[in-house]
This record gives sequence, structure tokens and C-alpha cells, in this order.
Amino acid sequence: MLTHNLGYPRIGSKRELKRASEQFWAGKISKDELIRNARQIRRQNWQTQAEAGIELIPSNDFSFYDHVLDTALLVGAIPDRYHALIDGKSNRELDIFFAMARGVQKDGIDIKAMEMTKWFDTNYHYIVPEFVKNQRFQRYSDKIIVEFEDAKQMGIVTKPVLVGPVSFLLLGKEKEAGFSRISLLDNLLTVYIEVLEDLALRGATWVQLDEPCLTLDLTEDEQIVFQQAYAKIRKAVPELKLLVATYFECSGENIHVSTTLPIDCLHVDLVRCPSQLGDILENTDFIKSDKILSLGVVDGRNIWKNDYTKSLGLIQKAVDALGEDRVMIAPSCSLLHSPCDLDLEKNEEVLSPEIKNWMAFAKQKLDEVVILSKLADPKTFKDFARQLTDNHLAIESRRSSKLIHKSEVKNRVSAIKEKDFDRESTFSIRQEIQLEALKLPLFPTTTIGSFPQTDEVRQLRANLKKGELSQADYDAKIAEAIEKSITWQEEIGIDVLVHGEFERNDMVEYFGEQLSGYVFTQNGWVQSYGSRCVKPPVIYGDVERPNPMTVKWSGYAQSKTDKLMKGMLTGPVTILQWSFVRDDQPRQTTAYQIALAIRDEVTDLEKAGIKVIQIDEPAIREGLPLRKADWANYLDWAVKAFRLSAAGVRNETQIHTHMCYSEFNDIIQHIAAMDADVITIETSRSQMELLDAFADFKYPNEIGPGVYDIHSPRVPSIDEIVFLLEKALNVIPARNLWVNPDCGLKTRHWAETEAALKNMIAATEKIREAA
Ligand code: GLN
Ligand code: ZN
Repeated sequence: MLTHNLGYPRIGSKRELKRASEQFWAGKISKDELIRNARQIRRQNWQTQAEAGIELIPSNDFSFYDHVLDTALLVGAIPDRYHALIDGKSNRELDIFFAMARGVQKDGIDIKAMEMTKWFDTNYHYIVPEFVKNQRFQRYSDKIIVEFEDAKQMGIVTKPVLVGPVSFLLLGKEKEAGFSRISLLDNLLTVYIEVLEDLALRGATWVQLDEPCLTLDLTEDEQIVFQQAYAKIRKAVPELKLLVATYFECSGENIHVSTTLPIDCLHVDLVRCPSQLGDILENTDFIKSDKILSLGVVDGRNIWKNDYTKSLGLIQKAVDALGEDRVMIAPSCSLLHSPCDLDLEKNEEVLSPEIKNWMAFAKQKLDEVVILSKLADPKTFKDFARQLTDNHLAIESRRSSKLIHKSEVKNRVSAIKEKDFDRESTFSIRQEIQLEALKLPLFPTTTIGSFPQTDEVRQLRANLKKGELSQADYDAKIAEAIEKSITWQEEIGIDVLVHGEFERNDMVEYFGEQLSGYVFTQNGWVQSYGSRCVKPPVIYGDVERPNPMTVKWSGYAQSKTDKLMKGMLTGPVTILQWSFVRDDQPRQTTAYQIALAIRDEVTDLEKAGIKVIQIDEPAIREGLPLRKADWANYLDWAVKAFRLSAAGVRNETQIHTHMCYSEFNDIIQHIAAMDADVITIETSRSQMELLDAFADFKYPNEIGPGVYDIHSPRVPSIDEIVFLLEKALNVIPARNLWVNPDCGLKTRHWAETEAALKNMIAATEKIREAA
């Protein structure tokens, strides 16, 4: 029974790659130094995996930015606009690579970056390959060879990893009309085959081709393409052992494709989809082949310790059917999505030993894979029996811990009634009542919540944490910032004010820190894109709100103005989506627990005199399951979680929600079902086109389509905003239209914020006059 790993975090356990890349981009270190740093991380990773006892260790899982972009460079899928960087110059590979990832703007050159999008349902983002008609692929980068040879020097014959050719095409985009990117397969395969032959020649025995698209809804044509691609590869490199990796979902219908590919080993994700083991063994001819099944039993997407007993059950089932030589053990997917090393969490006040004992990060997951293989083997079982006992104790301690299980919380969730999801009255009645109660003008103006998080504000928090600033002094400074922003908002004439969120580090962390059932790590970083990493908080137990979380600052802010002050909260689905979550209860249950906590906050804000409350849900869309068939169930509970959080207030209290980076077309009825009185959305980059979905659906509630892009320091002119508002008025009834920026302003500076908002107000006045 071989053990293997699909990929290891590339950022370095102390985010060394982030530092080195950012220094290189800033011109502070040389290219050679960056390359040296990267090499060190890679070598360290190989060492770590070898020491853990992993038999097939991946290479080429490292990337300076993104592994899909690596693949594009490998096969020379470099869009024309970057060719100017190649011509005549040698040693430009890394420059081109970063230009594709981040764009270039220097020495008179101005080239846009390639598009970036989410990698399946993870928070990792990949660079979307661009394809044109008659594209010719040509081997360009040698990175995969360099890494293989480098590990070989260390005495490790690695298993090189590549995005498989079909997923590579499917994950990309046609940049021209009149062809399908799948038609490029044959030409693409010539490059793949050339690379594979080269690897074989250099002594590679195994290669891993990642085909995660095998877990998506595929057309029949796409299924056939998988067969054709692998038949060709098989024929071209009979000597190489081919491992095709699928992950993140069940294989579903595609199981008849993946199990019949002419390969040596199929990897499946048994964490996300344990049932596919039975499916493969019972409903396909896999048993009759001589192929190996790689069991992804250790969760690569979460931070919990593996339950050995459960995993051993799956392993035993596979071994019984296939024999131990035809079984491999691995994490469910690349460990890219796990934080690096739990051993670095040394501060017991941050992470208590009891909770830490339930967790495993990437390094610990390697041990789990190896120990499982030893426990599954009768010859070595005895030597590892201790580990099984320890694991059992840890799992049991978690199952029954008082830290996790709170009967009041569980009872409250089971006591939820249908009417708890509904506001007192329907929207049309509420709208009339709110019109009366809030006395807002036509086209009310507002912002999305945050104002610039200046270095000064951040420094306050850092000083508070270090103990250099007392809580009282910190509070005084925050109060000052809030007051200043209120005076300023009043001066420029905004209708619904915000307090500015100066007291918040992050829209999830701020709430996580105040809810029970949450812990934080010090080093639990995971790559999000490029050098950007996130440190998701961990929900380990039943979530409860011991005390009001925002009432103090929102109440304070309201006391400083006669205008309406908007209360500002993060919604249950977003809190869930941007955290590591429990694997011992359905996501829905956790979402409802959070929703009840937010509901209490909403009603407390109402009691404190806040009449407008915004519950942000930017992550609703990204929570969508990979398979369309699973959407309805998710959307049902996600929408209900939001409604549960919002519905505790009276008719006159106005509930807002906010969403960004969203397409709404295919989920518009669910957005409508959230029944927020007002929704603010990001639309300016699409020039209001996103509004069509709302118009076509005849979306009944009020909408604030963002009138300018907050991702750029650019100040929009009054005319531009008027133009967008007029466009919006073509599709939205005037009485339903709000005016606001695309999103919060925390990443902006004050100068451009002030100028932009003044123009926004001036534009609003213009369209009010015309109305
Ligand atoms: N209220 C948050 C802010 O203004 C919303 C952020 C978001 O949508 N991502 O920063
Ligand atoms: Zn936003």
C-alpha cells in the first residue's frame, strides 16, 4: 500500500514566499534571490514529506503564483499582448509569468493581467488560461523539469504534478468567437506528451495529472474527450505510470469515465464523497482491471484530525476488494488548502491544548497518511496501535467536549419555527411603513460600511494588542475617528450614514472574536492568490453570542447624529464561508447557529435605536456547490439562514444586505427570497449590466447598484455617475433606487474617498432634479 501526497503548501510555513515575492516586486531583492528563496521552500517541503515517510512525493506543486498559470507557461499558452516581453530577450520567463499574473506598468509598457477566478469551491484563485482559434501550443517553460531534477539531487525521485490537459482546457476561456477550446486538445497533447516523455527519460516513474473537472457536470462530448486524451497519452508513454487525480466532489455520472481511463491509478476524494468508494467497487468494472485506487481519506480542506477508525473502514473495504497492492493512501486533495504546521501554534492562550489536540495542519496530515497505511497493514499494525488509541481518545474528547456542545444552542436551533424566517409583513407593506418612518428622499444615498483603514487606525489596533495602548485610549481614538467621519458625512449630505468600521480588523474575524465556539490561529495561513494569504478563523463548537457585538459603537455613532445611522453586520453564510468549519455537523446547522446569534444582534441594535441595519452577505454565491443538482438544497438553507438573522425586527426597521463579485442571473429568485428591504450590489464594472437580472425578474425590493468601482483610486466624474444612474433608472423603478459605491471603502485613501463621494452626491442631486 503506497502513500502519496497530491501537493504541499507552497507559501512556506512562515509565509516566506509571500515576503520574498513582495520584496522582488518592490525591487528590493533580485530575481536570483527570489529564486533561491523559492528553491529553499521547495527543498524544505520535500524534506518534510520524506521525513514523514510519504513514498510518492509531488514536485511541480510549487508555484511562484499559481499552478494553472505554470501550466499555461509550460505549454506556451501566452496571450499575444505579452509577446513584446519575450521578443529577443532571454531569461524573461519569470517576468512574463508575473506580467500574466499581475500585469505590468513600467518603462512605457502597460499590459493588463489575465483574469483570475476561484478554484472550484475553494478560496484559492487561479489565473484563467486564454485560448484563441488555431492556437498552437509549444513547450515554453522548463519549470517541471527543473524541479524534478532538483529533487533528484536530494535523492528523491518525485511524482511530478500537472494540471491534466482536459481540465486545463475546460478551466480556460475562449478569447475569440467561432471555436471551442476543446478543439485544441490534439495540439495541446503533443506538448504534454513531449513533457511526459522527457520526464520518463529522466527517470520519473509516476506522474500525477489533476483532472478535478471530472467531478463537475460534464456533457457527453466532454466525457468522450477525457477518454480520447488519455488513450493518446497512454499510447505515447507506456512506460510512465499515470495517476489521474479527481477531488472536491463525487464523480457522479463521470464515474464511468474516470474508472475506465487507460491509466495506472485513479485518485478519489473520499472526504467530500465517501460513497463513491462503494460506487466504484460495486457499480463499475474497476475491480476487474489492474488499476490502483488512491483513497483520499485525509481532509485537505480543513484543519481537523483524521478519524482513523473511520478511514480504516474505508481502506479495509478497498483492500478487501482490490488487494493491498492496488490501494494507495493520500490526502483528499492537494494540501495547498491547509495551513502549514500546527506545531507552530505555541501560544496556549490563543489555542488551548484541548482544542489543538483535535487539529491537524498539512505537516500533521502527512503523518496521518503514513500512520493510516501502517495501521491498515497487519504486519505493522501492532507497532502503531498506540497512535490508534491516541487518535481514538482525541476524537472521543472532541465528540463529547463541553467546550463544543451546548444544549441551549442545539435546543434553540431545533426549536426554530417557520414563522421565524419571516418578517412581520410582506415587503410592499414594509416599504410603505418605512417610507413614513424613515423619511428618506428619493434616491437615498449611503455607503457600504467601511471608511479608509489608514495606517494610523491599524497601528492603534496593533498597539492595543501589544499592550502599548490601553483599551480606554484605544476606544477614545476609535470614537474620535467615528465622530470625524460622521461630521464629514453630514457635511457632504449623505442620507444614511455609517460609522466607518474603524474598530474592525476584518469583517469575519471581528465577529468570530466575539462569538463563542470560535478559535483563532497565529500561523494558520492559506494561499488565496499570489502572495495573498488568508487566516480563516476556526469554528470548533456551538456558536453563541455571549454579549452584544456592535451595539456599543453603532449606538455611539447614532447618538452623534440626527441622521439615520446604519448598523453593520456580517451575515451567517459569509461568516460560515470564510471560516474553517466543523466537520461534525452539517454546514446548515452551523449556519443556523450563527444566524441566531446575528438575529439577537439585529434585535439589540433595533432596541438601541438603530433603524437601518445592513447584514452583509458577499459570500452567498461562492458557497454554491459544484454540481447544479445540489444548488437548490444549499440555496434553500443559505437564504433561510439570512432570513432567520434578519426577521426578528419590526416593519419599520429597514434591513439591507450587500453582495459583491456576484453574477445574479441564475440565482436571482433566491436573492429575492432573502427579502432584504434594500440590497446593495457591485455593478459599476459591468456598467450596470448586472442589473438586467433584477429587471428581468421584476425584483420587487429596493436596490443600490454600485455607481463606482472602489477597487481603484480613480475618482469617478459626476457625469459618469449620472450616466450609470440613468441606465439603472431604465430598468429599476425610481422609488426603489439607492445610490452608493460598489463596496466598502476600507482599502481606499481619504482624499479619493472624499472626492468620489462628493461627486456621487452631486450626481444624485442632478437626477433628483430631473425626476
Ligand atoms: N461592510 C463591509 C465593508 O464595507 C462589506 C465588505 C464586503 O462586502 N466585502 O467593508
Ligand atoms: Zn462588497
